[in-house]
Amino acid sequence: MRQRHKPWADEFLQENTHLIIPDPSNYKNKWHEVFENNNPIHVEIGTGKGQFIAGMAKQFPSINFIGIELAKSVIVSAAEKVQESEHANIRLINENAENLLDMFMTDEISTIYLNFSDPWPKNRHEKRRLTFHSFLKRYENVLKPDGELILKTDNRGLFEYSLVSFSNYGMTLQEVSLDLHALNDPENIMTEYEEKFSAKGQQIYRCKAVFPNQK
Ligand code: SAM
Repeated sequence: MRQRHKPWADEFLQENTHLIIPDPSNYKNKWHEVFENNNPIHVEIGTGKGQFIAGMAKQFPSINFIGIELAKSVIVSAAEKVQESEHANIRLINENAENLLDMFMTDEISTIYLNFSDPWPKNRHEKRRLTFHSFLKRYENVLKPDGELILKTDNRGLFEYSLVSFSNYGMTLQEVSLDLHALNDPENIMTEYEEKFSAKGQQIYRCKAVFPNQK
């Protein structure tokens, strides 16, 4: 994602610690205290500018949403969007998802969303793909036994790679759509990338997968 230079991003993060949690490891196994309820927790990895998570929080007020975004300048845009939406059921984390196990306890999360993740098409970058098996291992750890991993992308290569990666890991595919928008799913909240790519006529792929029961 192209990042605008925002020299005030550090200041913004410091002033908005109620929204962008500065030291998320402090809340491992305590996220319910942050939200002040016991509602299920859904996590989006690579939140970008926050349109999806803000829309989901509005549509599902009984779910707590946490967006993890690596890029500081991008998470500032997400925070601005979340502030505008005025929903109490969202928090953001400015971290690399590689550190997921520092942020969440085993079985703490109900659903993980990967939306339009960077495809990293070169073989030598395979480890960076968010559906590489080392990431799946982290997701398996923090997801509840019946927890779901939901992937949306316009990138056929990443989609095919991810289906194989899920299958090799022993995951079960519960839903595979090769043309999400043809389903006219009223619950589908579009991300910024999804709007951009579908406006160009590109197909959107989605799949939902679950891990095998034993950890
Ligand atoms: N999900 C948004 C959407 O669909 O509009 C943004 C998609 S953008 C292509 C991918 C985003 O994932 C970028 O903002 C990038 O900084 C973030 N990202 C990539 N790898 C990440 C990681 N390991 N941990 C957290 N965020 C990551």
